[in-house]
Amino acid sequence: MKHTVCRTVLWILCPLGGLLGGCVGPREPQDPMLSVNTLLDAPADYARVRIGTPEWPMPAYARYLEGVRICLDPGHGGDAHKRAYKRGPTGVREAEMNLRVAFYLRDLLEAAGAEVRLTREADVDSSLAERAEVANRWNADLFISLHHNAIGKPEVNRTSVWYHGDVDFRPSNLDLARYLCQGLLHAFQFPQISGDALNSDTLMYSGGFGILRAADVTAALCESSFFTNPQEEQRLRTPEHNLLEAYGLFDGLARYVYAGLPRVQLVEPADGRVEPGRTKTLVFRLDDGLRSRKAWGSDRQGILSSSIDVRLDGQPLAFDFQNKGYVLTATLPAELDPGGHRVDVQFVNKNKNSVLEPRVWIDLPGTVADASEYRLGYRAKTDPWLQRQVQEIDRVLCAHLGLAAEQRAVGLLDLTRGRLALIRPDEMYYGASVPKIAILLAWFETQPESAENLAPDVQEALGRMIKLSDNPAAARFSRQLGLPAIAEVLESSRYRFYDKKHGGGLWMGKHYAPGDERLRDPLRDLSHAATVRQCLRFYLMMDQGRLVSPAASAKMRDIFASPELDHVASKFLKGLAGRDRTILRKSGTWEDFHHDTALVEGEGRRYILVALTQSPRGEEYLEELAAAVDDLLAPAPAADE
Ligand SMILES: [Zn+2]
Repeated sequence: MKHTVCRTVLWILCPLGGLLGGCVGPREPQDPMLSVNTLLDAPADYARVRIGTPEWPMPAYARYLEGVRICLDPGHGGDAHKRAYKRGPTGVREAEMNLRVAFYLRDLLEAAGAEVRLTREADVDSSLAERAEVANRWNADLFISLHHNAIGKPEVNRTSVWYHGDVDFRPSNLDLARYLCQGLLHAFQFPQISGDALNSDTLMYSGGFGILRAADVTAALCESSFFTNPQEEQRLRTPEHNLLEAYGLFDGLARYVYAGLPRVQLVEPADGRVEPGRTKTLVFRLDDGLRSRKAWGSDRQGILSSSIDVRLDGQPLAFDFQNKGYVLTATLPAELDPGGHRVDVQFVNKNKNSVLEPRVWIDLPGTVADASEYRLGYRAKTDPWLQRQVQEIDRVLCAHLGLAAEQRAVGLLDLTRGRLALIRPDEMYYGASVPKIAILLAWFETQPESAENLAPDVQEALGRMIKLSDNPAAARFSRQLGLPAIAEVLESSRYRFYDKKHGGGLWMGKHYAPGDERLRDPLRDLSHAATVRQCLRFYLMMDQGRLVSPAASAKMRDIFASPELDHVASKFLKGLAGRDRTILRKSGTWEDFHHDTALVEGEGRRYILVALTQSPRGEEYLEELAAAVDDLLAPAPAADE
């Protein structure tokens, strides 16, 4: 910032930039292709003080942006050290122009009352998945990735806006892309135009753009202009041009929202749970995005009947639509499988805007899979309804406690109905005390006969290791077994609790005692490790009598239970306090790692819950997660015959 004035003056003197070779400020780095702050400086309030002036008016229709949640993603960042990476002919960086356009667009949107979040606010990078997660976890209405384009031909300069997949993937993506594109075309008035400026991201990569693929909300990506065009590169350095672009995007967004954002709400059953014995009729309320404004004639039909399309797991489903009250009913087929299903309700309003979030998840009563036969392999399928509910619980908790996506992993297996939900199941975390369960398994695996004749003092010590997480007890058994023997059990083809080919799993490579002896995991060099999937499998196999032998599994259950020892009332236990539950559990904490794993039974529930966290607020996450999941799994009321 300090060299601003000097550089600004220089750029006024040589508006054509690179054409005058010697025109470089004294503090410019030697190599322009490695420089930072490549834009002409502007005060932080550059856009804010101009909004509402005759040159940058706030259009009347922008008022409908109020309360709309918009997530902006300024592309790239933290890449100045990569020589000539995403730079124009004189070294102007795309990451910087993307960020300034995002700032100005935010100023405009906030002035109109929209809620705005940015995926980055500084010159830093984050992964495409992390950026999309900002929008997903916030439950944004709209997600816009801001970029500028590059090509080997310097004469090219035009606008394109990109949507994910094919046109049927998520029709609202086309609305967003179309309005953004129109806003840019109007603002820039470039002489060049492509025959079709709305493009599918699969034209570039067969899987599309990573950022759009990861977006779970209505999303588009703008390539507003080409920084490889020398004249455009110099314009892109200026705050005027950045504001012009932001204003074009803003105007497009304002017109889009003014045309109404249609939505769908499942009103019966409101939570998506079809109760046993009830008719399988779903009732939806449609919203054309306009009626609530109570404008003249808004009681007339604003939804095109012919556009309504209802799908159950992707297949067309018959429905009835009542214009009065905008009520849509659809009856599910009688032979539909129990468990979770996805219903999509699509339509367009009279301004041809599509439903922002057409997906609804429902749950049909009945057993999904036989829990006694259940296997939790790497291809195990999650239940659509349960998965959605757990994601929603997690989303709210992460927002409330400030956990980032990589700071937690969760797995839930509902044994009563054989339903599964998983979040990052194969991400390996430092395991803290959780791998003490591996010592227990290895103990019985290497001496299976002890299931029948376990000495009381050994059983008591194993109980202390599991239930109280007693370190001396754990070290006594792990030293007796030896670390290689424990690893061999974990990696054995019988259990595969640790699998190099699938990112690792459960690992126990250090005694829970002072000393240097280590057997680190082959993938990440961790002394203790755990994944959600392998912890779930441990409890599942114990429950099914498949750890060592039915007798040994039963004995391990007894050791988990150890009724003579008091539970440490933390994490899951704290969350389930006051509920009549039998809980077999192993938790762990070390520094910011807080984990809990448990088999929970009582009041019609039987489930395995595992959550691994790395956050100072991990304990709270585990506590609140356990309570919310236990509520979620309340048994359905009995059918009234
Ligand atoms: Zn880019």
